[in-house]
Amino acid sequence: MRIRPRTHRAAGALAGLALAGLLAATAATAPASAAPTASGGDRRVAAEYFPDPGGSGRTVEVPANTPVRKGKSAAPLSAAEAAVDGTVGEQAVTGPSDDRLDIVIVGDGYTAGQQGDFHADATAKWADITALEPYKSYQGLFNVWTVDAVSNESGISGDPGADTVKDTALGSYFWCSGIERLICTDIDKVAAYAAKAPAADLVVVIANSTKYGGAGYSGLLAEGRPFNGVSTLSSDHASSSLIAAHEIGHSVGLLDDEYTYPEYGTWTGGEPGGINSTTYTAAQLTEKQAKWYRWLGQSDPAGGTVGTFEGSAYYPLGLNRPTESSIMRELNNTEFNLPGREAMIAGFYRAGNALSSTVDTKNPVGPGRRIAVSLADLNTSAAGTAAGSRTHRPGLARPELRWYVDGVEKVSARGRTAPTPAALGVRADGRGHRVTAEAVDRTDAIRDPAVRALATDTLTWNVRATGHRGR
Ligand SMILES: [Zn+2]
Repeated sequence: MRIRPRTHRAAGALAGLALAGLLAATAATAPASAAPTASGGDRRVAAEYFPDPGGSGRTVEVPANTPVRKGKSAAPLSAAEAAVDGTVGEQAVTGPSDDRLDIVIVGDGYTAGQQGDFHADATAKWADITALEPYKSYQGLFNVWTVDAVSNESGISGDPGADTVKDTALGSYFWCSGIERLICTDIDKVAAYAAKAPAADLVVVIANSTKYGGAGYSGLLAEGRPFNGVSTLSSDHASSSLIAAHEIGHSVGLLDDEYTYPEYGTWTGGEPGGINSTTYTAAQLTEKQAKWYRWLGQSDPAGGTVGTFEGSAYYPLGLNRPTESSIMRELNNTEFNLPGREAMIAGFYRAGNALSSTVDTKNPVGPGRRIAVSLADLNTSAAGTAAGSRTHRPGLARPELRWYVDGVEKVSARGRTAPTPAALGVRADGRGHRVTAEAVDRTDAIRDPAVRALATDTLTWNVRATGHRGR
C-alpha cells in the first residue's frame, strides 16, 4: 500500500475514491440480508460462499466472531508452541510495502508440528491464483506474507460433520449459518494475526481441510479494518483456490457479482456504482461514454464478445453485465472479462507502484549522483517494451521507463535504471533543475485514461544548481 506521499497524485483522494466506489457498489448491490450490522459480540457481516465447485455464489449475513458452539475455548499453548505462534514468513516479497499490494496468508487448523504443511499449502494455493490473469502478469506488484497460527487441534470445526468442534487459532468452521460449504472465521482473531505482518491490504485464511469450501468477506475498510477483504478457503480441495481468485475481484477490483437470484426480480434503481453492472444498453453505453463502452465488440478472454447481457449484481432483470460468463459470474470460468481485467489492474496499481527508488526525493541530488530506480518485475508483454533490461516473458504488462529534465523527455535515456543528472544533460548553469523518472504500463489491457494514470508513477528529484561531481 502506498503510504509515502507522492507528488503526482493525491493518495488520500484516491483512497477516498476507492472507498466511495466500494460503498456505492455495496449500496447498489448488497442483498437486503446484508444490511447494517449489529454491534458488540452480535456483530454481523456479509459473506459470500459457493455451494458447489464451478457454480455461482450466494451472499448471507454471518457472525463476525465465532459462536461458542462452533469453536472450543482455546486451551493455552505450550511455551514451545507459543514460540512458533505468530511467526511471520516472506513467501514472495518483491519490494517495499509502500509500493506493493500486501497479501497476508494465515493458516487455521494447523498444529505446531503442521506449520510446514501450512507453508506448502499457502505456496500451492497462491500458485493456483497467480496462474490466472491478470494476477499472473502482476505478481511483481504483490508482497505475500505468511503468519503462523498454532492450533491446538488439527482440522477445523464442521469437518467431517456439522457437529465436529475443534479448538483452532482462528475459530474457522464449515456449516456457518447452517451452510456446509460456507467457511466462516473469527474476523477479530484474523485481524490480530494479520497485524503481525509488515502490512496487510488483503488477508487469505487457509483452513486445513480436504472438504470444498470457503468464503469472502468484503467491505471491511468501511468496518474500520486496515484491509478490505478476507477470503477463506480449504487447503486440500483443488477448486477452493477459485473462491479466493473471485473474492479478490471484489476487494481489489471493486467488481460486482455478475450472477443473479431469481427472487431479486427487476432492478428499478438508477445507474449502479458497480464497474461491471449497468442499466444501459450497448448503444447507450457508447452514446454516454459510460462504464465499459471502450470494450464493446471486443473478443473476450472469458468467452464470446463484450456487449450487454441482462442480469448482474443479483438482479436477473434491469441490469446488464459485460459478457455471458466470467469468473465474477461462475467459477467454472477462470477468466475475468476485459472490463473486469482492467478493473483488477486498476486495483493493483491503487495499492502498488511499479517504480521505486532508494534515492530520497526530499533531498536535492548533485549532477554526478547516480539516481538508481527499480521497476517491479512484471510478466511483460511479448510485444516488447522500451524498458530495455526487462526479460520478455508472455504476459499482459508493458512497463516503460522514461526520464525527463525540467519536463522534457531525454529520449536516449529510455529504460536506463541509474543515470546521473549530468548524463541526462542537466547543465551546471547555476539554475535549479528537476529530473523525473516515469514508469507507465502501456498494456493494451488498459483502455480507460484514468486507469492508465493509475498505472503511471513518477518520482522527481531537484538537482543542486552548483553541485560537485559524485558524492
Ligand atoms: Zn462474489
